[in-house]
Amino acid sequence: MRLKNLVIGSGITLGAVGLGLAVKSFLPQRFSTASWVKQKERWPRFNIAALPEIEVSFLRCGSITIPELIAVRGAFSLAPRVISHSAVLIRHPQALFLYDTGLSSDIHMYLADQTLFFRKTLANFRLEQSLGSHLTERRIGGSDLDFAVLSHLHWDHVGGIPDIPGVPLRVNRVEYEAAKLGLLDARHGLVRRLMGDNPVELFDCAGPTYEGFRSSLDLFGDGSVVLVPLPGHTAGNTGMFINRSNGPRVFLLGDATWVSENYMRPATMHPFLWSRVTSDDATARQTLIDLHYYALQHPEVPLIGMHDAALQEQYMRSEKFTQAMTR
Ligand SMILES: [Zn+2]
Repeated sequence: MRLKNLVIGSGITLGAVGLGLAVKSFLPQRFSTASWVKQKERWPRFNIAALPEIEVSFLRCGSITIPELIAVRGAFSLAPRVISHSAVLIRHPQALFLYDTGLSSDIHMYLADQTLFFRKTLANFRLEQSLGSHLTERRIGGSDLDFAVLSHLHWDHVGGIPDIPGVPLRVNRVEYEAAKLGLLDARHGLVRRLMGDNPVELFDCAGPTYEGFRSSLDLFGDGSVVLVPLPGHTAGNTGMFINRSNGPRVFLLGDATWVSENYMRPATMHPFLWSRVTSDDATARQTLIDLHYYALQHPEVPLIGMHDAALQEQYMRSEKFTQAMTR
């Protein structure tokens, strides 16, 4: 009898602790961002007119709608937020290239052997338009693309590669070395299979600090496309600044954030997802703080995550307007 009471008692206690933890997971998490002070404006450091004209287009391949409290921890809102799967097409005078690859027309075939849990959670999306179809629509053949820079090596960022066979893949060496230790072969080699036989070219962000980020790589040596490490989501998640004469500066974030609130508040996504997709919690949260500071310092620069459908749509609308005005 005593034992039964004890079991029931501990069951109730465990239940209460579980409920407490579940409730806590929806509450805001403390970030020490109070010490921020506005720095003296350092931009523009070079002549904007001397920069090349660069066209930047988001190619949305798929999406899923989730409640805001899942995308942003501490947001007490069930408002629908669209999480997109996109590639970015960048037309620079020296190269036509992609940042991430979105999803291929065969993506469901590649996911067919994955667990039901994976397909119903992280790999749950509606395929809208494959990367290949986007490129065909723009009359771009696979051989017209010079390369694709991959922000990181999660399946949903290499998912369009089957549509661009042979196109060289530029990957941060830190990311590739880390992925060799597990990610490439995880889930029945999903990422390795998606990357196919495309040649891999490793790069290093070994240049000087850039806009408050610890190092950089100036891709064309003209200051127009600059890569910076935004680690934590994965070891080598890499952001891209695009500086151009024909429109505002753009800062692509890979998966350092999902939606703008992640760096504006700052706040992670709900810990259920955050813990599953983040390789280093402390580093990823520090990156959110770095982006938070950058965003406060540069309200004029759009910081766009690769799943942030709202910002991507907003950007594409303003880009159409900007390009119409500058023509
Ligand atoms: Zn992703």
